[in-house]
Amino acid sequence: MKQLNQTVAAIAPSATLAISSKAAELKAQGLKVCAFAAGEPDFNTPDCIKVACERALDAHKTRYVAAAGLPELRVALSEKLAKENGALYDPTQIVVANGGKHALSQVFQTMLNPGDEVIIPTPYWLSYPEMVRVAGGTPVFVETRVEDGFLMRPDQLEAAITPRTVAVVINSPSNPTGMMYTPAQLRVIGEVAIAHDLWVVSDEIYEKMVYGEVEQASMASFGPAFYDHTITVNGFSKTFAMTGWRLGYAAAPKPFAKALASLQSHMASAPNTFAQWGAVAALKEAAPDVTKMVAAFAARRDRIYELVSAILGVRCAKPQGAFYVFPNIMSFGLGSLEFASRLLEEQHVAVVPGVAFGNDRCIRLSYACSMENIEEGLARMAAFCAGLKR
Ligand SMILES: *Cc1c(COP(=O)(O)O)cnc(C)c1O
Repeated sequence: MKQLNQTVAAIAPSATLAISSKAAELKAQGLKVCAFAAGEPDFNTPDCIKVACERALDAHKTRYVAAAGLPELRVALSEKLAKENGALYDPTQIVVANGGKHALSQVFQTMLNPGDEVIIPTPYWLSYPEMVRVAGGTPVFVETRVEDGFLMRPDQLEAAITPRTVAVVINSPSNPTGMMYTPAQLRVIGEVAIAHDLWVVSDEIYEKMVYGEVEQASMASFGPAFYDHTITVNGFSKTFAMTGWRLGYAAAPKPFAKALASLQSHMASAPNTFAQWGAVAALKEAAPDVTKMVAAFAARRDRIYELVSAILGVRCAKPQGAFYVFPNIMSFGLGSLEFASRLLEEQHVAVVPGVAFGNDRCIRLSYACSMENIEEGLARMAAFCAGLKR
């Protein structure tokens, strides 16, 4: 066999794979596994969205649409971005893709030349580094500290910038930490990026999962210079429990959006037509459903944080958004993979080792699960930790 593309061949298989296959094995044996590994809402897609999609199918809306997305959806997104995010994008500046992940990977492909550097704060969402590498770029990691709420300080950003730096990735609220930049902190990060003429790739996928401590803000809303340097990325998966629909989008300054749309026209033709009709309804009709889901997440956040923090030897910053907690388990002297493997083996609790996100001292628990699962799983984790040496 001929050699594969070197960058693709070097992509590390996800560190979470071993854990999820072990969890599946335990379940197949009939054991009750408490799962905290999910990266998606546990709610069903709201009915109003499904009905709109069914209507689109019945009306034979099954053909290709414009490569950059259904015009009606881009108009609705333009209105949403103006009203909710304070960022004025013309519909032609918005590219709807097959998920936020697809939008992000095409953004990096549009942006990067070989050897260009992209600054990624650690812990990071595990796909960013691979997306950057596949696009020919080089990820540059900035390690954030729990003392700083896992937020990158502006001086850390400054120190990581080189003549090759092209962009910085900001994900607030964050997967995996659940932490958020305040609007003031976000603005300072943006100012540094502007001063060095960098792009800010602003992944706002968790914008609605916020619980009152920190106000969510969009980088592009701070003013013209911020807007000119920002690519706003978002999607339907998390807000509307639409992970399997595969719809996300990027909004960008005109020349960037034009190049991005051309790329997508060759890579994907267009996103799924009837799914996009569902997305129009999501934006126009599903706000009450979102409010209910966010309220459920808020109650779970409070409870899981309380239970995790009560475990002796575990340190946890209180997450302000998304649906994850990211406790530090360092005091037990185990790496995150060993901790997670043994927790699964001994107590049948599935969590994601922090090493998957570039931090081996923590584990990630998702609270996109029932309150009962939280109660029982955390009791089991407490028993597990009590049996470990500190
Ligand atoms: C889930 C997620 C996405 C996008 O998911 P899609 O299903 O592809 O829309 C993007 N960024 C982060 C940080 C996520 O957790």
